[in-house]
Amino acid sequence: MRLKVIFDFIQSITMGETRHNWTKEEIIEIYNQPLMDLLYQAAGVHRKFHDPNTVQVSTLISIKTGGCPEDCGYCPQAARYPTNIEGNDLMTVQQVKAQALRAKANGSSRVCMGAAWRNVKDGPEFDQVLEMVRTINKLDMEVCCTLGMLTENQAKRLAEAGLYAYNHNLDTSEEYYKDVISTRAFDDRLATIDNVRKSNVTVCSGGIIGMGEELKDRAGMLVALSTLDPQPESVPINALVAVEGTPMEDMKPVSSWGIVRMVATTRIVMPLTQVRLSAGRTEMSREGQALCFFAGANSIFAGDKLLTTPNPDMNEDLQMFNELGLQPQKAFEKSPQPQTVEAENTQLESLGEKPKWSRPGHQIERNEISRTKG
Ligand code: SF4
Repeated sequence: MRLKVIFDFIQSITMGETRHNWTKEEIIEIYNQPLMDLLYQAAGVHRKFHDPNTVQVSTLISIKTGGCPEDCGYCPQAARYPTNIEGNDLMTVQQVKAQALRAKANGSSRVCMGAAWRNVKDGPEFDQVLEMVRTINKLDMEVCCTLGMLTENQAKRLAEAGLYAYNHNLDTSEEYYKDVISTRAFDDRLATIDNVRKSNVTVCSGGIIGMGEELKDRAGMLVALSTLDPQPESVPINALVAVEGTPMEDMKPVSSWGIVRMVATTRIVMPLTQVRLSAGRTEMSREGQALCFFAGANSIFAGDKLLTTPNPDMNEDLQMFNELGLQPQKAFEKSPQPQTVEAENTQLESLGEKPKWSRPGHQIERNEISRTKG
């Protein structure tokens, strides 16, 4: 079995193909190989499709923090969990522009704006986000948003404003998703990704390891992502940052080896994607991060905070880049810059939609326990 996987893998990359039929069993075989074999294969794929000495740098801005109605078991921004995060209302366009300019000066080519919403609602707040997208695209930076579930019309309006990427993580496997979140279903995630695909916005979708899932769930998530056609242009791999007050506060940190293996496996099954080493970098040594870059990670989040959890300081990252001889990637190297249509020239109206995203509402014991603790 192992030899067959490796043979198929080598055959698919030498033909320059992206496979959309990976199975869980094949992915587990790849993940479980001796580490040196895994690294060698992943680095080979990486070098075939990417410049191994450049890394795309993104800055994440939390444009609306906390008070979220969802119950994601890992998230300190869920209103129901007794965490100590400071919430804020939607930032102004000027505030976001100032942060984006700072990020650009520090070497970021992309700004990702995150709002703690269940889904996007048409209205003045969404109009304000559209204006943020226009403003940052005009700074010649790639603009990404992560705003929750999204309709096709909303995706097209974001595209018209100049959005480059939309982030919507699958988080984990379809099977384990039910143990993490009860307020929406895995299919809602896929439906939003599908809506984004109906616009010309690129897709960013990945997940989190270290939430108590098994290896088959990590593999299941990679099956779900790699069988999308096209595969996501960017895939963030996060290691859980266990925050006090959340249902996952007692989870043990994932080992660096687990992160390296996950990054390498992601690189092999999704050769063209930007693999982003995301939350959890503060727990890793420089050597561990260097192994991730060797194994195919070619994107990071910069800045001392990732929404609400800690991240390495930008100077530390620049020092690491110097040591490793890595260069920050320029904006729009992978896809062209979208054109911005000004609000007064828009072809797309707000439809005032009220889509019925699902609410499975099943009980997740640990989410309930955490809620009563506070
Ligand atoms: S992950 Fe997003 S949707 Fe889930 S609780 Fe946090 S902010 Fe809300």
